[in-house]
Amino acid sequence: MSDLVSRDLEAIWHPYTQMKTAAKPIPIVKGEGVYLYTEDGKKLIDAVSSWWVNIHGHSHPYIAEKVFEQLQVLEHVIFAGFTHPQAVKLAENLLSIIPKNQAKIFYSDNGSTAVEVAIKMCLQFWSNQNQHRTKILAFKNSYHGDTFGAMAVSARSAFTAAFDSLLFDVEFLDLPNENNLEVLKSQISNLKSELACFIFEPLVQGAGGMLMYEAEDLDELILHCKKENVLTIADEVMTGFGRTGKLFASDHLTQKADLMCFSKGLTGGTMPLGVTSCTQEIYDAFLSDDKLKTLFHGHSFTANPVACAASNASFDILMQAETHESLKRISKKHHQFKEEIELNPKVKNVRQCGTILAMEWNIEATSYFNNIRDTLYNFFLDKGIILRPLGNILYIMPPYCISNDDLDYIYNQIREALIKF
Ligand SMILES: *Cc1c(COP(=O)(O)O)cnc(C)c1O
Repeated sequence: MSDLVSRDLEAIWHPYTQMKTAAKPIPIVKGEGVYLYTEDGKKLIDAVSSWWVNIHGHSHPYIAEKVFEQLQVLEHVIFAGFTHPQAVKLAENLLSIIPKNQAKIFYSDNGSTAVEVAIKMCLQFWSNQNQHRTKILAFKNSYHGDTFGAMAVSARSAFTAAFDSLLFDVEFLDLPNENNLEVLKSQISNLKSELACFIFEPLVQGAGGMLMYEAEDLDELILHCKKENVLTIADEVMTGFGRTGKLFASDHLTQKADLMCFSKGLTGGTMPLGVTSCTQEIYDAFLSDDKLKTLFHGHSFTANPVACAASNASFDILMQAETHESLKRISKKHHQFKEEIELNPKVKNVRQCGTILAMEWNIEATSYFNNIRDTLYNFFLDKGIILRPLGNILYIMPPYCISNDDLDYIYNQIREALIKF
């Protein structure tokens, strides 16, 4: 065993990991573009963008340079009563590309905190106006994070089981389709006087299994919420910054949410940062001579200048024509591969949204069901590809700089896996 691994096992508790039975962690000593390099010199294609955060490739020289420059000028400053150039520039950058109804940017540390902030903004929006509205709507199979509020608006599952009795009540709706829209609308109408907000992952439910649904159906629900005076939160933590082929999943929609949450790709996947944006109307509901109407939320590292610098650098790369070409190229190749494997009897369902391609392995829900995930994970790892199936759902979510050759190599290994398993 390498020295690094034994020292890790002595000292570290890893996330989402059963430490008793898990395989030993693989030491990564270098990242470059789409590749990660192991301590023993193996090259791995990061086909899951390191938990969906990396959009421009690892150790991007431009982001590295901007981070280095910022570290020499100002590493951090308290963000209550003070501000700094990188935070202002990032807020302006974001407001220039997110839907026009968004007026203000609130910083936090990660996706879960971005969701916590959005929920607190909605709840207090109503209480500041002396209205008792505390019920929240979310979709079945949703995932919005691991802190308590974010966990509460996420689907109840094995991951939340130990805490279920402590999670606040949330009304879970089916994903919309052309057949159930009227039912969903009446569910919303029946609860409207109690409802504070409706939070959703637009177009793709990530952790729930890369479940996808139509923009036009979501449009109808958002429109209905507007009619019924229910606030809407688009959780774009995973879908933001190009993932769905457009800059934001909300760009596929005609109706825009009142609040939006961002993280993951926000810094290009370089370091943690969260953003919650909101409309002028929400912001205005907190303006008062009464100090009790203040949004009392903040983190020590709110708007960390280094994270904001990384994010501004990632923004520059995101806005280059070359990045847009990559999004189109990956989407097109995914689509072609989808059409090819769609008819394969081993594949129950293939779906694609921009740079995300997901396929469900067609296997009975036997004990084997639990093994297919590990089988596939290890198979691809052996082939030098990091793919981390969600149960029997295999998905590719690569950094946008992935080459056609590397995509073809991944598709080829999937073809082989489809023959083998
Ligand atoms: C990952 C994710 C989160 C949580 O973000 P963290 O940074 O892991 O806390 C929230 N919402 C969605 C849609 C996500 O995919």
